[in-house]
Amino acid sequence: MMRECLFCKIIKREIPSEIIYETDKVIVFKDIHPKAEVHLLILPKKHVVSINHLEEKDKELMGELILTAQKIAKEKKLKGYKLIINVGREAGQFIDHLHLHLLSGKLSELP
Ligand code: 5GP
Ligand code: ZN
Repeated sequence: MMRECLFCKIIKREIPSEIIYETDKVIVFKDIHPKAEVHLLILPKKHVVSINHLEEKDKELMGELILTAQKIAKEKKLKGYKLIINVGREAGQFIDHLHLHLLSGKLSELP
């Protein structure tokens, strides 16, 4: 079952990660291989495979993910940041659990 994906395991604390923010719907943790001074992953706790798998009822959830990025950027006083969402293997999505990359500071290469 797809439910046992890596990010679902991180959400359930079955795999350790540096979680920096969490609500009942959203979680944010540090990327294990940072590609910028700040490289965070923002994701829904609900297992959604990718942008291509979103449904009408997920509208609010997507808004929450973006607003979470804004909140964290504000808290961390980031001067500017990039939000990246890879969709599908061909575009570099290797974890099939929807996530936003929040990148700030010197960027080495795009994720
Ligand atoms: P994607 O390539 O799917 O858009 O992004 C997946 C991201 O997850 C990559 O940037 C990768 O470094 C990160 N990642 C992969 N495995 C782990 C892990 O076990 N822990 C954390 N914190 N990040 C991971
Ligand atoms: Zn998952």
